[in-house]
Amino acid sequence: MVELFKIGFLPFTLVDLIDIALVSYIIYKLYQLLRGTLAANIFMGLIIVLLLSFVAQAANFKTLSWMLKLVTDIWVIAFIVLFQPELRRLLVLLGRYPFFRKFAERSEKTSADIITEAAFELAQHQHGALMVIVKSVGLKGIVESGEILNAKISVGLLRSIFFPRSPLHDGAVVIKDDIIEAARCTLPLSNKTSYDGISLGMRHRAGLGMSEQADVISVIVSEETGGISVAENGILTRGLSKENLRNILSSTITGSKEKGIRNIFELFTKQK
Ligand code: ATP
Ligand code: MG
Repeated sequence: MVELFKIGFLPFTLVDLIDIALVSYIIYKLYQLLRGTLAANIFMGLIIVLLLSFVAQAANFKTLSWMLKLVTDIWVIAFIVLFQPELRRLLVLLGRYPFFRKFAERSEKTSADIITEAAFELAQHQHGALMVIVKSVGLKGIVESGEILNAKISVGLLRSIFFPRSPLHDGAVVIKDDIIEAARCTLPLSNKTSYDGISLGMRHRAGLGMSEQADVISVIVSEETGGISVAENGILTRGLSKENLRNILSSTITGSKEKGIRNIFELFTKQK
């Protein structure tokens, strides 16, 4: 093995260098992926525990390293439990690869199509709207702040909910798969009052705030401009075209047509 240098009696080889570089790269990529989400804090916590345990072992703190070893021993289980929503999404994404998709039926419109169509019809009439689409775990508290509907999603229903004189038009709807779970929900506001130099109204702050705190994608239709924005992981994208919106939605959410394949994955990934 090519030995680069020695730390004490430990030889440091090229393989060690590649090993360290790879681990750093993986940790960095994971952090990039999770940045801005709740999972990032958990991830940082896990890294800190790992570093502490490394230092404790190096410094020969026996009791501390025994305690930290207990934590790192259950690392894998803790990882699965803490990242269960992310892992589930990963499997669902896997299931949406064209190869697997062949198995899923594909005749009806997906939720992504319906939401896109509704958003553009609402925008045309300059009717404001706020739709929160749940990607992994549900939003129980948020749903309970509004009117529970549990209705099958449709363009007509979304249009009627956000019709300005409808009693349900204020606040947000929460959509999971192809069900509108609730309307008139109150969302947590983002602390940001402007984004890229443009000031944010309440609707946009609410959509952005929700995306900072949960694994959702918020679709915001502006009443003032008729513009359509999307917020995901605390990032707001404004001025979307119909194609853009449809692509963003269909790559992140599961509509009814993916249900078959998704159920199979959920069998393996759902918490009992
Ligand atoms: P627009 O471009 O449509 O005017 P905006 O970002 O400027 O949007 P406002 O004009 O302040 O926002 O929109 C007010 C509407 O935003 C309210 O009528 C209400 O429906 C919605 N809204 C305000 N706060 C919340 C909240 N915390 N959760 C959900 N919806 C909210
Ligand atoms: Mg406004």
